[in-house]
Amino acid sequence: MYGIIATWRMALEGISEAADMLKKSADAGDSIETAIRAVEDFEFYKSVGYGGLPNEEMEVELDAAFMDGDTLDVGCVGAIKDFANPVSIARMLSKEPVNNFLVGAGAEKYAHRHGFERKNMLTERAKTHYHNRVKETTENTELKPYSGHDTVGMVCLDDKGHMTAATSTSGLFMKHAGRVGDSPVSGSGFYVDSEVGGASATGLGEDVMKGCVSYEIIRLMKEGKTPQEACDIAVNTFDKELKKRRGKAGDMSLIAMNNKGEWGVTTNIEGFSFAVATENEEPTVYLVK
Ligand code: ASP
Repeated sequence: MYGIIATWRMALEGISEAADMLKKSADAGDSIETAIRAVEDFEFYKSVGYGGLPNEEMEVELDAAFMDGDTLDVGCVGAIKDFANPVSIARMLSKEPVNNFLVGAGAEKYAHRHGFERKNMLTERAKTHYHNRVKETTENTELKPYSGHDTVGMVCLDDKGHMTAATSTSGLFMKHAGRVGDSPVSGSGFYVDSEVGGASATGLGEDVMKGCVSYEIIRLMKEGKTPQEACDIAVNTFDKELKKRRGKAGDMSLIAMNNKGEWGVTTNIEGFSFAVATENEEPTVYLVK
């Protein structure tokens, strides 16, 4: 059995490419990297890679991660600027013996040293969004992070039972320089164990990180829950917990797949879309109402 599941409609083209590879017995690492790169490269997705929305200083700072479910290798970049494919840098970092999570200038030095493609990730369209946003904000109002932030997060299973997870995002629009969300943080934005399954998150990183929600889903699947049960329990319990303790809970949408290719999704928002392809299912987009 092979399969791939991803957050948001924007992942459809990428997972379709990955599904074609998986059909030909490609590895889960190569397939997920191809799928995420497709989203990073597409200029009109304004929350990932090229064309991603900038921070409050009009700089595009990107977060990404890659995890191998066989070895549990994790590689991550945070707040990296001017590189085309953060997920590929994260994947290379996952193979290092130490120094697996690099941020800012250190991540850029590493990427440069290893010959990754440099690119100005700020598009004219993203600049227009930025300027409109600044205009909307009066002098007295603080710039607030835009609430429609989206991360592409994926979990992949190949026909040899190898699983991977990966994420990529420009994080919150109008975030502070140097802000890093949940997406490159293991256990929060993603987690995968080939002996169980994987999960990935999109939503308000500051809240997802309070609950290590991706890891919680893997833990529940390990106890025997289906991906859908695990997602429901993890997301709904933590959503309630946040509301009890803090009076509110940020957006949280989680996807999961186990090592049999069964999948599940839970969200606390209206209108979350996700994309799935498996051996038994053509690439399909679903909308959760
Ligand atoms: N989780 C991301 C972050 O907080 C944003 C998102 O997924 O919408 O950076």
